[in-house]
Amino acid sequence: MERCLLTTAGHLRGVLYNLGMENKSKKPTPAIKQNLGCHQDPAERRNNFDEVALGFGLEEAVTEAARCLGCKTKPCELACPVNVKIPEFVDLVYKEDIGAAASKIFETSLFPAICGRVCPQETYCEAACVLKDKFGPVSIGRLERFTADYARRNGLITPPPCAPDTGFKVACVGSGPTSLAVAAELRKLGHAVTVFEALHEFGGVLSYGIPTFRLPREVVRFEVATLKKMGVRFLKNVMIGKSITIEELKKDFDIIYIGSGAGLPSPMNTPGEDLVGVYSSNEFLTRINLMEAYKFPVTDTPYYIGKKVVVVGGGNTAMDSARCAQRLGPGSVTLLYRRTRAEMPARGEEVENAMEEGINFEFLTAPVELEGDEKGRLKRVKCVRMALGEPDASGRRKPVPQKGSEFYVEADSLVVAIGASPNPVIQQTTPGLNTNKWGGIIVEEATARTSLDGIYAGGDVVRGGATVLLAMKDGKNAALAIHRKLTGN
Ligand code: SF4
Repeated sequence: MERCLLTTAGHLRGVLYNLGMENKSKKPTPAIKQNLGCHQDPAERRNNFDEVALGFGLEEAVTEAARCLGCKTKPCELACPVNVKIPEFVDLVYKEDIGAAASKIFETSLFPAICGRVCPQETYCEAACVLKDKFGPVSIGRLERFTADYARRNGLITPPPCAPDTGFKVACVGSGPTSLAVAAELRKLGHAVTVFEALHEFGGVLSYGIPTFRLPREVVRFEVATLKKMGVRFLKNVMIGKSITIEELKKDFDIIYIGSGAGLPSPMNTPGEDLVGVYSSNEFLTRINLMEAYKFPVTDTPYYIGKKVVVVGGGNTAMDSARCAQRLGPGSVTLLYRRTRAEMPARGEEVENAMEEGINFEFLTAPVELEGDEKGRLKRVKCVRMALGEPDASGRRKPVPQKGSEFYVEADSLVVAIGASPNPVIQQTTPGLNTNKWGGIIVEEATARTSLDGIYAGGDVVRGGATVLLAMKDGKNAALAIHRKLTGN
């Protein structure tokens, strides 16, 4: 395990806090180096599914919080999609009033333990921090995580109060981040909320998609438990659109919010994709994360990866797939990405973690054919080298195959992690529900209303695969629109 090194100034501040000699109303210099927190040693963590980032202790958190200037213009808060009151909660951490800091975050975001771990702060609040260029931004995400974890472990979290019952009933389809946000907001406003989940575990992508070494399962379970304490009803193993249609559900609820996510894998459309040993990232991650196949035969779900694993893709799902595969102990894990590291959509931190854990990266490389043996098992991947051409519709330079550059990578298994589309079940079984050409539900942007009266939608089923934070933001906005529709207020 790496040892965390605080700067000398940081240590001095910690000593002064402990001796009670630090004036808490006075902010010290922000020039103390940004603390990026401790991580499990790469050689150790590539063999386990325990959390990689270890999080701040109280002293580290207070020292990091002391770097914040408390800017009056609040650029960090304005850059946060859910407008967490960042300067105020960071100041409360600095004053070691962690319960109050947690309450301050809860005013705008009910899930700081999740967001503090998986939100890409480096592109939102931390990118806007005035200290970024000179000293490194305040580690806002790590402070958010610390606040939530400390408050949870020390019993400082009390569910927010809920308004008296309004008598209105809302159903949320799916229990991922967008539905959890809707449920929290509407319950606070006094509406009765029931969440329907198709799987046997709540949390949607937070449970089946994100590995425990990035987001421990107990964190998600705690958030669900908090909502239950607020009175939200959770029902699992119910597939809306199959066991019960939206039309049937509408008879029992005033409003339905569809947050069924984007769990439909996008194929590569490459010859050989049906060979044994080829997985979609959805299947692979669900087996490992949700079904805990890495504990087989203690658990029921097996896995097969062989000695050589190839992962295709450059996003966070590709990193998660490669890092899960590495923890299953094959001889090698190789990641193929058709552009360069600079164009990778994955968080920089996750790419670095994957590299530290020994994943081989083959940039500017794309698979063109998967070849199998006589038993139909994957044997090798025919690849081609790419060069970057003119920018395409995404604004990124288009990868162009280089003639005569074909080569082979030996592989026993391959995980396709190049994206996912909205789950199609509800769209297929709900007449009149308008969708776009990717199968995403079309909504009115300001209100999240679909083409059907009383039916709202948000998160990945609308956006396609996006971030947890944007899904939560959708949920918060939709909740307000639903409340207005129900109460006329
Ligand atoms: Fe603190 Fe940075 Fe936000 Fe300013 S921008 S209040 S220094 S976190």
